[in-house]
Amino acid sequence: MEKDKYHRNVELICPTCGGKLFEFKEGDKEFIELFKCASCGRKISKDELIRENEENINENLTEIGQEVMKDFKKEFKKTLKETFKNDKNIRVE
Ligand SMILES: [Zn+2]
Repeated sequence: MEKDKYHRNVELICPTCGGKLFEFKEGDKEFIELFKCASCGRKISKDELIRENEENINENLTEIGQEVMKDFKKEFKKTLKETFKNDKNIRVE
């Protein structure tokens, strides 16, 4: 299963001005701790920013979860079909 398919950009929004552009130091995203809003200049930590945007992020996660489940079911059916391919008594629809 390709994981990249489920990668989404979750938009983070500045809780002060609603801006969507943030400046941060170059480097591994995992290690970025402080963002600076490009519109109002508010500095906000990654944790705080995620907390403020949690509702938004949760919505995205739910959506991704459903897609994964759909694909998983498809894969599972395929595997079943393969397994019982040569068994004429069992048909997987
Ligand atoms: Zn801002």
